[in-house]
Amino acid sequence: MTVTSDRRGFVPAALWDQPAPVPELGVSFEFFPPRGAQGEARLWETVERLAAYAPDFVSVTYGAGGSTRDKTHDTVVRMRDEFGLDAAAHLTCVDAAKRDVMAVADAYEAAGINHIVALRGDPPQGGGAYVPHPEGFAFAVDLVRALAARGGFEISVAAYPEVHPHALNPDADLDNLKAKLDAGATRAITQYFFDPAVYLRFRDRAAAAGITRPILAGLMPVLGFAQIRRFSAACGAGIPDWMIRLYDGAEDDEATHQAVSAMLLAEQARLLAAEGCHDLHFYTLNKADLTIAACHLLGIRPRRAAAAADAAIPAATAAG
Ligand SMILES: Cc1cc2nc3c(=O)[nH]c(=O)nc-3n(C[C@H](O)[C@H](O)[C@H](O)COP(=O)(O)OP(=O)(O)OC[C@H]3O[C@@H](n4cnc5c(N)ncnc54)[C@H](O)[C@@H]3O)c2cc1C
Repeated sequence: MTVTSDRRGFVPAALWDQPAPVPELGVSFEFFPPRGAQGEARLWETVERLAAYAPDFVSVTYGAGGSTRDKTHDTVVRMRDEFGLDAAAHLTCVDAAKRDVMAVADAYEAAGINHIVALRGDPPQGGGAYVPHPEGFAFAVDLVRALAARGGFEISVAAYPEVHPHALNPDADLDNLKAKLDAGATRAITQYFFDPAVYLRFRDRAAAAGITRPILAGLMPVLGFAQIRRFSAACGAGIPDWMIRLYDGAEDDEATHQAVSAMLLAEQARLLAAEGCHDLHFYTLNKADLTIAACHLLGIRPRRAAAAADAAIPAATAAG
């Protein structure tokens, strides 16, 4: 019998195969600051459901140009206070002087939040090429250096298995990731990708470049395939042909679409875990169902159920 708990998963090659236990499997969940009363209610219901899966940490994004500065702060603090979660705040350099960005960091430290996902950010929509603020940080690495020199924060950064759209070339992009980690970041979180081989090749390239820190695999639940195709074109995430075939005919059939998306997310996660990628970062989009389905298929159970299952195992063994 396989022991499952909130901290231990299993990775069967196929569901009916003997599962290989993965004791150190870790998950983390990303959210965005809610908009409106409905968004607010949905977020907190989602957080409550996902908190039961004992994530290593959760994180909250920072709206373009700092548009959600206060909302990001309040959301991160509430996740920590109300749910006991290790909560990280995203922080970007866009449209802000260095002193203003660091003032945001100061406020986090004052509130007892000590994990920052340090990013450059994107120009506001339709804003064309990225132009740093005249008194701002030019690139994420500059923010990482400033946060590391300041001290008091665990720092995470972004990585791009399919290369950042504005990178000079793939090697320069990888050099930039190494520079961010060498400057003081303790982990990288990838942009989402759909083909697990993309991540595995990137991990090999990163290792060959001397990167030793964890690179968390960013997994995107497909809530709407049409929407994800548009979004992916902008951020450089490839949509494989097999995925187009997978959703062909399912786009207008909600139940089938949901089932396909749950299977896809779980298969990505299971394959990555089987390949030794034990840190999975889910872009939840503030919805729980698909992420929970993937966790469940990885053998990760909510805390209460896990405790009951663990308690039942000795009795079952004794009876057997
Ligand atoms: C996990 C994750 C979380 C994110 N969260 C947010 C969020 O909360 N809010 C938000 O607005 N955006 C977010 N983003 C998007 C991110 O801000 C954009 O992808 C942005 O365009 C790049 O940010 P970065 O931190 O990777 O930048 P950087 O690491 O600075 O890289 C940006 C580009 O500049 C290039 N570059 C770096 N140094 C140099 C140099 N010296 N000369 C020339 N080129 C250089 C890099 O190769 C890359 O192409 C997130 C992305 C990821 C993957």
